Amino acid sequence: MSHSHSSRSSAQTHPGHKRNQNQDSLHMDDGHGLWVVADGMGGHHGGEIASAIACEEIPERISQGADIEAALRAAHQKIVTRGVAQPELRGMGTTVVVVREQGNEYEIAWSGDSRIYRWRKGRLVQRSEDHSIVQRMLKSGLLSEQQAKTHPHQHVISSCLGSTSAEGLEIGYQRDAWEQGDWLLLCSDGLTDELEDDQIAAILARHRTIDDASNALLQAALDSGGRDNVTLALIQAPADAPVGMVTRNPMFPLLLGIAGVVIALGILLAVEFFGKSA
Ligand code: CA
Repeated sequence: MSHSHSSRSSAQTHPGHKRNQNQDSLHMDDGHGLWVVADGMGGHHGGEIASAIACEEIPERISQGADIEAALRAAHQKIVTRGVAQPELRGMGTTVVVVREQGNEYEIAWSGDSRIYRWRKGRLVQRSEDHSIVQRMLKSGLLSEQQAKTHPHQHVISSCLGSTSAEGLEIGYQRDAWEQGDWLLLCSDGLTDELEDDQIAAILARHRTIDDASNALLQAALDSGGRDNVTLALIQAPADAPVGMVTRNPMFPLLLGIAGVVIALGILLAVEFFGKSA
């Protein structure tokens, strides 16, 4: 198990209770505002190698000026090329989730079923969308939420870096802006297979610091079985991030006034109309 922390992020990675290898990799760079979690797959250490390539190549490309999507594509190509050169590694691949911050805004990109969640004011929202067969069937209405959760093909992903399927590489992308107090959670499926979203939210709600919360999340995933490698990273908003919108709309008194005038006019018109027609 390794543990790293600093002022902005706190990360955990653990092989879990059932596996000898940890095929997950992490890249935490608070200084440049770049964070990566990758979950590798493939025999003969292929999984470890693929996820490590993602965690090296993506920061390298971004530091050279590539955009986030180009960086993911470069890592994909590097993994494919390595698999061709070393046939025992052929077919290795890795999921990836990346957060790249620029000031108070950030981009997220991903491929596969590692996830990014945003924790804001006590609410946990998944910001990535799994590239998985089950997620596709869910979207097209072939499965209910409940059926999706227990589907036997839960782990069949439809895209990852290094995969050379005919369907090609899918990359998800979102932009967002920090609000004061926001946390982002990046994780491999070793966390989300063991814990439901509401269990994750309950743990986050009980802890004030990202270090305490990341420790507690790892412990909960291990206590619940730890059947896979578990990797997670919590990132907190910059200290100077803007305060979020207050829940009550500041326009509310004005809107109420307009609504009042509209209703009064309606009543006047009705009285006028019915008065004349009577
Ligand atoms: Ca995994």
